[in-house]
Amino acid sequence: MDKQKQVLILPGDGIGPEVCDEAKKVLIHVNQSHDLNISIEESLVGGKAFEETGKPLPDDTLNAAKKSDAVLLGAVGGPTWDDLDYHLRPERALLGLRAELDLFANLRPAILSKHLSDSSSLKPEKVLNLDLLIIRELTGGIYFGEPRGRSDNKESAFNTMIYSKNEIERIGRVAFEAAQKRNKTLCSVDKANVLEVSVLWREVMTELSKDYPDVELSHMLVDNAAMQLVRDPKQFDVMVTGNLFGDILSDIAAMLTGSIGMLPSASLNSDNTGMYEPVHGSAPDIAGKGLANPIAAILSVAMMLKYSFDAKEASLAIENSIEEVLSEGFRTHDLEGPQDSKLSTSQMGNKIIEKLN
Ligand code: NAD
Repeated sequence: MDKQKQVLILPGDGIGPEVCDEAKKVLIHVNQSHDLNISIEESLVGGKAFEETGKPLPDDTLNAAKKSDAVLLGAVGGPTWDDLDYHLRPERALLGLRAELDLFANLRPAILSKHLSDSSSLKPEKVLNLDLLIIRELTGGIYFGEPRGRSDNKESAFNTMIYSKNEIERIGRVAFEAAQKRNKTLCSVDKANVLEVSVLWREVMTELSKDYPDVELSHMLVDNAAMQLVRDPKQFDVMVTGNLFGDILSDIAAMLTGSIGMLPSASLNSDNTGMYEPVHGSAPDIAGKGLANPIAAILSVAMMLKYSFDAKEASLAIENSIEEVLSEGFRTHDLEGPQDSKLSTSQMGNKIIEKLN
């Protein structure tokens, strides 16, 4: 048996605990069926952590995350904590974990199950078999750049968009390597007609492409990329971009697949230690009602098995079980479908486990 691997689950707020419960059940199941030797711990994060410890990212949680081989995070935030100071808000925990674990590469697949092509906001033929991977730089750019703040008289505010060559190169390599494993095309997105930081981004990506002659690199301005994503998303295979542009483009891509409740993500550092989380937030409007779709969280476990533990078979088994459940017409409340096909959060988790058996 392989060396024991440690997974830390941080359920967080709102629907985070509900979807994490289902993801945990699936992880426990494949851990046994595929002999993965994973041990699981849980800890506090977000608003719940603030209530109990006064901090959205308590030191114990951060230390446990640093010791883990992978982290599964549910979601953080909610109206209860919206008026807190910026540094105490639940969302700060995400930025803290990303920065402290050096999770610079965010991988967000947008895959549309063929059973759900009616759920997309685009016409089914535009999105049928959509399989797109957006790679977003996560620890640099304008979200972290200094100086930032408000002027002394509070009449103006400023942020800094900054990237070093090294930061661009390391996310570029992740993207080129991902493209090599897929269709060998990579679209780098920037705003090089206006921003110096984007001119540097484009120069580094072009230079890097010499190391990956089998990958066809193209460049696109971010405004055009936003438009092209809704005009003809299947023209893309892998896209790479900076923190701010990636935040926006990956949410557009999310909607192409119908429900935000279907989309997982991975944030990796250079050792492939990663944090895995559904793309959605804490959905306070449906929290505690059994209405949340747990598939994004369960697919996040599948990504964890693939990227951090190289357990491709177990990962594929989860993906196949989800497809099987959807092919039989079962749906959660966020997905189009007849009322009698609707399952609660835990019923969906149980159905997926049933198919894994
Ligand atoms: P949200 O993703 O929580 O919800 C947007 C809409 O999608 C809501 O109508 C919600 O009911 C629905 N939805 C989301 N996930 C779903 C699921 N799994 N199943 C079914 N429906 C689902 O975004 P929001 O409303 O903008 O934000 C709510 C809170 O979440 C805010 O406090 C925000 O800061 C936080 N947030 C956290 C994260 C994170 O933890 N990674 C990400 C985004 C937003």
